[in-house]
Amino acid sequence: MREVTTLVIATKNKGKTAEIRNLLKDFPVNIMSIADFGPIPPVEENGTTFDENAYKKASFTSRVLGFPALADDSGLIVDALGGAPGVYSARYAGEKASDDERCAKLLQEMEGKTDRKAAFECVISIAVPTGPALTYEARCEGLIVEKPAGSNGFGYDPIFYYPPLNKTFAELTIEEKSKVSHRGKALGEIISEFDNLLTWIRQNLPVQEKFLCENK
Ligand code: IMP
Repeated sequence: MREVTTLVIATKNKGKTAEIRNLLKDFPVNIMSIADFGPIPPVEENGTTFDENAYKKASFTSRVLGFPALADDSGLIVDALGGAPGVYSARYAGEKASDDERCAKLLQEMEGKTDRKAAFECVISIAVPTGPALTYEARCEGLIVEKPAGSNGFGYDPIFYYPPLNKTFAELTIEEKSKVSHRGKALGEIISEFDNLLTWIRQNLPVQEKFLCENK
């Protein structure tokens, strides 16, 4: 029988967790979420790149919980806004804003702009408690619509139009989105070398000390 490795998904974002779980469901890995553990200190996402924030979240979670952890840092890059909201995508309309409020703010900033080009970027970091990590990244290009459409997905999905399928991401099923999205492509890379990844994780996990009880 194959040994099953635990992998903690280091995010509280339910949309991301659902997509990651869905793509990894057939692989020999026991997916856990940080919600399965007690409260752990929040990670400050103060990096200036997706790579930096993804590594911070993965390595911190892994060190605190003692399991390998996978973190995704992602966001929307809009050409006409000079790359905004970028790494600030989650906080674009303030810390407590909803997805609808973030989309509304972005559409407001885009009013009158004819260049609607945008891309989602995603960096996934997989870290072990001793510090080493692997990084996977991917991008998906599209356009910002004038009016939101669709109710699936999360975040900016209702305003991100994907020309090859003639739909916004929020009009796609989770499976359709995962085939073409930034996160789906990054996870696709992980899946394509899953056996090597598991070997790497096992080789880099700290060795558990065995305490023998002597019965006298
Ligand atoms: P963070 O990676 O936790 O900093 O948050 C990334 C933010 O980017 C999310 O809260 C969403 O607003 C946005 N985002 C990332 N990926 C997607 C996606 O697949 N669809 C829609 N919005 C996304």
